[in-house]
Amino acid sequence: MAKIFCVANQKGGVGKTTTTVNLAAGLAKIGQRVLMIDLDPQGNATMGSGIDKRTLELTIYDVLLENASISEARVKSDKLIDAGCSFDILGANRDLAGAEVELVDVERREKRIKQAIDAVANEYDFVLIDCPPSLSMLTLNGLCSANGVIVPMQCEYFALEGLTDLVNTIKQVHANLNPDLQIIGLLRVMYDPRITLQQQVSEQLKNHFGDKVFNTVIPRNVRLAEAPSYGLPGVAFDPSARGSQAFVEFATEMVERIKTM
Ligand code: ATP
Ligand code: MG
Repeated sequence: MAKIFCVANQKGGVGKTTTTVNLAAGLAKIGQRVLMIDLDPQGNATMGSGIDKRTLELTIYDVLLENASISEARVKSDKLIDAGCSFDILGANRDLAGAEVELVDVERREKRIKQAIDAVANEYDFVLIDCPPSLSMLTLNGLCSANGVIVPMQCEYFALEGLTDLVNTIKQVHANLNPDLQIIGLLRVMYDPRITLQQQVSEQLKNHFGDKVFNTVIPRNVRLAEAPSYGLPGVAFDPSARGSQAFVEFATEMVERIKTM
């Protein structure tokens, strides 16, 4: 049965999508069966996995509106198959921006993704959900579906401040909607050890959150930033890059973590 994880942080541009697609590719590379769900109308995770969001016939939007099941809407990427780290993709595009409004009056709307995932959960080891940069209904939908949250963060001063809001939201969802939900861990990303402030914030994080901070640290690495323009996660685009190796290491750490869940 698949373990379901949201990659969430309401701050924009902190590395959510990079984490989702590279963790998905890293897990696939070490033999895990993965479904990646793009829950962001920007469709970055879709494009970054080699799928043109403009040509998709069915997306997460259709699943949310119960016009399609996940088995009907998921796709595979030829580029990922060629690179030897293929995972299934439930894509998103701008249509999804409308879902927020269209679902306002719908019953059990926060359970729809979960129900759709349940129907395919035995086909996967991991389901990874890339959330948009907000604590909107879409993110809430994601959180209601998940066993855990992975929070990518840069080791900067304001990162800690934003974390309080996210932690409170997760607590509320846990208390009211999804008792399964927990923070799996904080992932330090775009890390540059030469910057003293980053070292300090990293230490603060470890002191405050203890073993909720993943051991793996993702370095700032230009190959990870270049990869999306080729429609590939860094792990597939340049497996030898330091950033890609870190994500494979993170995938291994995740496989270990779920054994204790
Ligand atoms: P949004 O909030 O808009 O969804 P996001 O949190 O998903 O953004 P990303 O799109 O993953 O963030 O990353 C933001 C930018 O930082 C991108 O240009 C990405 O390529 C770059 N980036 C992410 N991680 C790294 C890294 N480890 N090293 C270098 N660049 C990175
Ligand atoms: Mg993103």
